[in-house]
Amino acid sequence: MENKCVLCEGELKEKTVDYEVYGKSLGKFPAKVCEKCNEQWFDEKTSRKIEEAEKKAGLFGLSREGKIGYSGNSLIIRIPKEIAKFMNLKKEAPIVIYPEDKNKIAVSIR
Ligand SMILES: [Zn+2]
Repeated sequence: MENKCVLCEGELKEKTVDYEVYGKSLGKFPAKVCEKCNEQWFDEKTSRKIEEAEKKAGLFGLSREGKIGYSGNSLIIRIPKEIAKFMNLKKEAPIVIYPEDKNKIAVSIR
């Protein structure tokens, strides 16, 4: 592996990092961490271990592709049942929805 960050060309340092997915810790893994942008890089073996840990924790492949639909004058985003289950979402749960940037919508459950 290169010792320069692919994203910003910052210096990479070997560290042990706490790996988190969707706010749940999967444990500690060896990584090369960029000193400039903080991006974490894992070698292939570690990536496979992380994938296994994600599968064990039921967190693997929770992202889904979809399309924006509409109803009346509103646009609708469907929440896949796997994500609803993971987050324990219920019908009519109060939410706050806001743009995080031009390409990302955040939804907080209150
Ligand atoms: Zn970087």
